[in-house]
Amino acid sequence: MNKLIKDTVTILNTYPYSDSSLIVKAIAKENGLIDIIAKGIRKKSDSFILQALNDYELTLYPPREGELHLLKESSLLKERHYEGAKNWATALCGAELMQKQIISNDEHLLYFELLGSFLDFLLSLDAEPLPVFWRLLNRIIHLQGLALTTCICSGCKEQKPEYAYTKHDAQLYCRECTHNLTLPKDLHIFSEEASRIFYHLDHIGNHLSEIRLAKSTIQEINDFYSDYYLAHNRKTLKLKSLSVLEQFYL
Ligand SMILES: [Zn+2]
Repeated sequence: MNKLIKDTVTILNTYPYSDSSLIVKAIAKENGLIDIIAKGIRKKSDSFILQALNDYELTLYPPREGELHLLKESSLLKERHYEGAKNWATALCGAELMQKQIISNDEHLLYFELLGSFLDFLLSLDAEPLPVFWRLLNRIIHLQGLALTTCICSGCKEQKPEYAYTKHDAQLYCRECTHNLTLPKDLHIFSEEASRIFYHLDHIGNHLSEIRLAKSTIQEINDFYSDYYLAHNRKTLKLKSLSVLEQFYL
């Protein structure tokens, strides 16, 4: 008989499976990203159902070869209830982003806590939530060992506001260096709003009340990250929940 696993998790997403079961994706403090099957759970009372974005303590049977963890018991530790639809949709973006990461064994707790503080921050936030997601994205990019230095120009290496970037390599440039670029054929010049957001991203919490996001700004910033991922990871960053969130904006 395999030893039971007890761990604290944040649920990232759930999918119905067969008539009565649920597949659960979660990030666990000690075990990192895990897939769980909760058999028969949908026939039990509503209060027992595992909900995305909440924290639970779970008791699990470890997976046998090629199988999922099997849920034995769960107890709710923290319920996260989002008043605003935007905050809730942003929280889901963070959860989906987490699901896409490859997390090394010694970093499980780091990622678990990073997501937890992101989700908690959004609970009481009364301002634009989306920049908080971009900050999370930035932090994850750093944890993945990729260098994305906002506020430092790729040309002159000085600390200056971002003015533009080249799409093929996602390098950021200040205004002066942009004008000196030779053949900047895939250059994107940022709108003022996008430029301001990048400049303040590391401490965006202090600036959220000043930010009013237009859909075009959101697409600019999401496009930048998309180009960044393609240039550095050779894969695209496609988040379904981010497309959903964009629809809240005009
Ligand atoms: Zn420069």
